[in-house]
Amino acid sequence: MVKYVYSFLEGNKDMKDLLGGKGANLAEMTSLGLPVPPGFTITTDACKEYLKRGEVPETLTTEVTQALRDVEREIGRRLGDPDKPLLVSVRSGAKFSMPGMMETVLNIGLNDESVQGLARMAGNDRFAWDSYRRLIQMFGKTVMDVDGDLFANALDQMKADRGTTQDTDLTADDLKELTETFKVIYRDATGEDFPQDPREQMDKATEAVFRSWNTERAAIYRRRERIPNNLGTAVNICTMVFGNMGEESGTGVAFTRDPSTGKSGVYGDFLMNAQGEDVVAGIRNTLALADLERINKPVYDELLGIMRTLETHYQDLCDIEYTIEEGKLWMLQTRVGKRTAAAAFRVATQLVDEKLITSDQAVERVTGEQLTQLMFPQFDTDSTKTLLTKGMAASPGAAVGGIAFNNEQAEAAKAQGRPCILVRRETNPDDLAGMVVAEGVLTARGGKTSHAAVVARGMGKTCVCGAEALEIDLEAGTLTVGGKVLKEGDTIAIDGSTGEVFDGDVPVSDSPVTTYLLKGLEAGLAACNGDEDMTELVTSVDRILTYCDKSAKLRVRANADNPTDAQRAVDFGASGIGLCRTEHMFLGARRPLVERAILSEAGSQERVEALAELGKLQRQDFKEMLQVLDGKPMTVRLIDPPLHEFLPDLTSLEVKVALQHERGEHNADDEKMLAAVRKLHEANPMLGLRGVRLGVWMPGLFAMQMHALVGAAAELKAAGGDPRPEIMVPLVGSNAELAIIRREAEEIIAEELEAAGVELDVPVGCMVELPRAAMIAESLAEEADFFSYGTNDLTQTTWGFSRDDCEGVFFPHYIEAGIFGVSPFESLDVHGVGRIVEEGVRRGRSAKPDMKMGVCGEHGGDPDSIHFFASVGIDYVSCSPFRVPVARLEVGRVEA
Ligand code: PEP
Ligand code: MG
Repeated sequence: MVKYVYSFLEGNKDMKDLLGGKGANLAEMTSLGLPVPPGFTITTDACKEYLKRGEVPETLTTEVTQALRDVEREIGRRLGDPDKPLLVSVRSGAKFSMPGMMETVLNIGLNDESVQGLARMAGNDRFAWDSYRRLIQMFGKTVMDVDGDLFANALDQMKADRGTTQDTDLTADDLKELTETFKVIYRDATGEDFPQDPREQMDKATEAVFRSWNTERAAIYRRRERIPNNLGTAVNICTMVFGNMGEESGTGVAFTRDPSTGKSGVYGDFLMNAQGEDVVAGIRNTLALADLERINKPVYDELLGIMRTLETHYQDLCDIEYTIEEGKLWMLQTRVGKRTAAAAFRVATQLVDEKLITSDQAVERVTGEQLTQLMFPQFDTDSTKTLLTKGMAASPGAAVGGIAFNNEQAEAAKAQGRPCILVRRETNPDDLAGMVVAEGVLTARGGKTSHAAVVARGMGKTCVCGAEALEIDLEAGTLTVGGKVLKEGDTIAIDGSTGEVFDGDVPVSDSPVTTYLLKGLEAGLAACNGDEDMTELVTSVDRILTYCDKSAKLRVRANADNPTDAQRAVDFGASGIGLCRTEHMFLGARRPLVERAILSEAGSQERVEALAELGKLQRQDFKEMLQVLDGKPMTVRLIDPPLHEFLPDLTSLEVKVALQHERGEHNADDEKMLAAVRKLHEANPMLGLRGVRLGVWMPGLFAMQMHALVGAAAELKAAGGDPRPEIMVPLVGSNAELAIIRREAEEIIAEELEAAGVELDVPVGCMVELPRAAMIAESLAEEADFFSYGTNDLTQTTWGFSRDDCEGVFFPHYIEAGIFGVSPFESLDVHGVGRIVEEGVRRGRSAKPDMKMGVCGEHGGDPDSIHFFASVGIDYVSCSPFRVPVARLEVGRVEA
């Protein structure tokens, strides 16, 4: 029988698939002997079963009864008991944290009778009625979909009637009356009474949590974070402890280190006499954790001790949620904390220095994506800026854009290609859509652990929060700060590393991390201008990358087709060029030459001359690039695209010629061009005359390129250089095709080397970008010195998806429908295309065990894909120069 319920005494931190992150960590803390209120977790399997069947599995109900009775026995109180009621919280908790995306219901177990018992137990009528009205409100809203404003308005009305604006001014009797009003709202909206049976409350809340997995905002969040749709959420049922029992009680969140800089210390926000979400909601302004020392020293000391225990146990930065109930500390949650990219690097090296983790573990703590974020530009330190105000530096980066006050405005700006900053008083999960499209997020309220801050950090988005001087008037559509009034669309700039908010546009400059990556450690440190945090960061990145380079299982090359990109690739640490797309050298002023070559008769003098001209230019290009790469391999791919790409568009040309005819004119050049374009026109050009087929079909074309490359290399070699050219043939599907080009190549290589009087090994290999090539790899290997998997075309030809058309058209629907979580052109489809790569590697190596194999499709720079390529024995990945540092980091993270 499937087990659906685990007591906190049973699970552990490694059971996140089944118990979700929160449940697994509550169990871990329980087994560490930390003060966790008793409770149990309903598994993600139960959620999946519920979502599949639309009803709760029967055995779940009975298991819950057992687990609940165990909790009741442990705590000595029963759910719904009129004298000493046990109250529980029902909280969602998926494998991956999805802050605020799913439901929570607190104070389950209160009804018309047990509220009296709670009042007597707590010696506090007001507290009991406040808890009861909160239950009806939360249960109504989240479980029964009652419009939350109905409750909020009734509360406001009561405060207005009593002449106050503070909840705390309402008396026990007021709250009792409010509870009755809430019950009426509940009945009117749902057609039934608020359930008095506590078990019914608990079961319905559990189902609501299950259902919340499929809400739209949760789905958006998962898409954004690439969290699979089929994981489901666990449900944690936990004994309630109260942070709102008076001034001896409170609740808070804390980090064992600063989540934005990584600095070790005491970081967190708390509120006395507050419950649950009050701290993260950003509604009341919080106190800093350090203030707790003054307010309750024993609890503060205990909390710090627990934080140290957790950091030692998890060997990482942890975040925690706790509640103090009448002076007693309770731990409600912990997890390895989200952090900014900068903090990730700093914390990783700090923990190595503190001898808590090994260098291997440190490399696991950072990702290529985080390194990408650190490469983002920053505001120019020298530029003149108009400071509007300063808030908290919640998530680093420099963002500039027009003000958007809500999701609609942000999405409209995005649709028109205008960058925007989402400006809110505070954010909640409903603002997610706006946060996704905005360049940055600015809030007027809330601390570093507010929703805006946590979510923005998770997204790697710039965020400034708690900028209290901002007055936002949504009705008027204005943002007022220090007497200045700004409207929707007005440009502001926010600095997520300092918390500054500027009026107007502010120029941005390179981050010191980028300077380091391009110019080395000394230059990177100099660019920090003495800023200690930045200096520590650059040093951390250097230490980790150096370690990665040393332990790398794969090499990283770059895709580049001009000397500037080649230089950048080398500066970023590429070990060579894995793909030089030579057709990129045929553009601009060279186009007429290409046209001439294409339009001339095969074997004609004109063609010979046009190709010779092109050859001269290519030779110079190759020479410059080989000089940049001196000593490093450079794979040059012979021309790949269909030739019509170099000629005018068929339709426009037809119209042009037809108009000439109408006017009785005849232009011989245009007519000749039209005939050629018609001749080369193809219905499916990507499946047509391109790649190796061109080389076979149009003698002289590949030969010109090979002469240029080998000639340039021979010249450099003769001059004492160390050129390492490699010739690569695209779109090969048969070894006979490759054999034809190879023979030609061998003759040209011999001829050029002999002419220059040098010796040079020039490998000839091919791309594997058709499924057939992979399936006959053992025989292709006879003709190829190396393979490079062109996973762009391989994805196109395996799925039959046009890489130029599908992504913008129906992929969003496919992602929505869960057919795939991410475009297969972005991250390799390991189950389909990946298997073909794997089969190609296996077959190729069966013929030539030491054959070098690389990947040069876009996937070569994608972290997940890199890990897959390593697992099937690929030797190197080649990606765009800007992705090289990311790929260097990722190849260092590949497990041994
Ligand atoms: C590929 O197909 O993966 C590839 C690298 O070639 P291109 O993108 O130029 O077709
Ligand atoms: Mg290709």
